[in-house]
Amino acid sequence: MSQNSKEDFTALAYSEQGKKAVYPGSFDPITNGHVDIITRGLKIFGRILIAVLENPVKEPLFTAEERTAMIKEIFSREPRVEVKSFGGLLVDFARNHDARVVIRGLRAVSDFEYEFQMTLMNHKLNPELETLFMMPSIRYTFLSSNMVKEVHRLGGCIRDLVPPIVEAGLDEKKRQAERSIS
Ligand code: ADP
Repeated sequence: MSQNSKEDFTALAYSEQGKKAVYPGSFDPITNGHVDIITRGLKIFGRILIAVLENPVKEPLFTAEERTAMIKEIFSREPRVEVKSFGGLLVDFARNHDARVVIRGLRAVSDFEYEFQMTLMNHKLNPELETLFMMPSIRYTFLSSNMVKEVHRLGGCIRDLVPPIVEAGLDEKKRQAERSIS
């Protein structure tokens, strides 16, 4: 390969092995950190399948349908991004959708232990499935869905942290919560 030519990246993105990656998570809700990882992933893979976990361990604020719908809307102009909700084992979901690579985002050292364990387990369940870790832009390394929800709940500004549709969704959830209290 010649160095860093556009053709090289295209060849990598559309090679058989690099064709499709799955990016799993709770996305409760999707943040600009997730969007940054997906945008970077699209430079490497031909297609990215975003796999929205139906029932995360912690009760989600948004239903799986709401989380999926918001992500679909955000990437509505990007035909290379597909969004589906899933339950069960990630290895089965990836196999059923013909994806051989899992993308995960790494923010800080604190993410490492959990990600390391999960990757080893997935590798044991299916040695053919590779996991690729990507780091976001430095401005998103502190960002998590939980942090966004908490700041928004307390009245802080989250405009630079999430896409507009997510901010609108959080506003609506807050209104619903206030109505149910009064
Ligand atoms: P989970 O509930 O599995 O942790 P999340 O929806 O929180 O899933 O995140 C999905 C993936 O995106 C995880 O690999 C997580 O580390 C990564 N991620 C979340 N927020 C960011 C961020 N701000 N920058 C980079 N990666 C992130």
